[in-house]
Amino acid sequence: MTAEKIVEIKKLLATPQNIVIIPHRNPDGDAIGSSLALYHYLKDKHYVTVVAPNDYPEFLKWMPSSDEVTLFDKQNIQSKRALESASIVFLLDFNALHRIGDDMKNTVEKFKGTFIMIDHHQQPDTSITDYIYSDVSICSTCQMVYHFLEKLDDVDKINTDIASCLYAGIMTDTGSFRFSSTTSTTHRIIADLIDKGANNAQIHNNIYDVNSYGRLQLLGRALSNLKVLEKHRTAFITLSQEELNEFNFQKGDTEGVVNYALSLEGVVFAAIFIEDVEQKIIKMSLRSKGKFSVNEFARAHYNGGGHDNAAGGRSELNMEETITNFISLLPNYADELLKSDEE
Ligand code: 5GP
Ligand code: MN
Repeated sequence: MTAEKIVEIKKLLATPQNIVIIPHRNPDGDAIGSSLALYHYLKDKHYVTVVAPNDYPEFLKWMPSSDEVTLFDKQNIQSKRALESASIVFLLDFNALHRIGDDMKNTVEKFKGTFIMIDHHQQPDTSITDYIYSDVSICSTCQMVYHFLEKLDDVDKINTDIASCLYAGIMTDTGSFRFSSTTSTTHRIIADLIDKGANNAQIHNNIYDVNSYGRLQLLGRALSNLKVLEKHRTAFITLSQEELNEFNFQKGDTEGVVNYALSLEGVVFAAIFIEDVEQKIIKMSLRSKGKFSVNEFARAHYNGGGHDNAAGGRSELNMEETITNFISLLPNYADELLKSDEE
């Protein structure tokens, strides 16, 4: 984002505005964390509403003002009213309007005011707005919100609430600071957020140490469903709707499960396929190590996208057909997969 655009945004924010902040559908820690952080930054001067397309996991609901998030699918009238009266709409942690779901996209597309997008996903849709702060090298949208406040000369306005939300999003999107997107700058920001009041141990505890018995049992089933395709250095996990029901699946219960498949020695490509009978799709999460781009793979075959090493997509075939199709694609990538982790 150019210095001129920042000056324009500063001017816009100099007077009270009606602002709506939107994270992507099925919001994760980074999407909700960045949205609520920005909410806390703006709310003293402006009238601000966070409108999420749909609900998010319980383990993120400790975030300050989480109970004020409006859900577009459940609180539709309220959400539409907020959007109708908005002058500025922030789009956080997603790169194209289809990522908020068709229903919400139809409403948001009609918005005539100023969009401001802050996001770290590849290939942002630049037709939406002039105000795009996009950087695919940054680990999380939460880190970008920190840089955004730096650009606005407002880092000193970061209070405990903002620091806690930003910390949570950076922590979740970096796999607790272990992915290669974690830089020394990330650590410096994290140190500053702790200085500004983020309780790191408590936040870790709030997010990771809240397993239900059902979630652990479901993890057990997922691990016993794990299949390895040694030849292609690929491993995948399946979970059917029946299995989800058996273990009383709650939103967020499968988060991170795909990483177990990727942790297998020698594996550079991992997938989890999760059946969703209501939407009639198989939702998938894809992860890789090294150069093999799951973003490209998801875009090419599964109507999805994301980052080089973490992406998602969907299949409209049933589980069995999806797996057969997935396996049939791998020989086309044989060489890439073999060499993915080479320097
Ligand atoms: P996850 O597998 O954790 O749901 O998502 C991994 C990454 O891929 C995230 O950055 C997420 O935004 C992106 N992603 C997940 N599902 C989709 C999808 O269906 N379409 C696109 N474009 N991106 C996705
Ligand atoms: Mn993110």
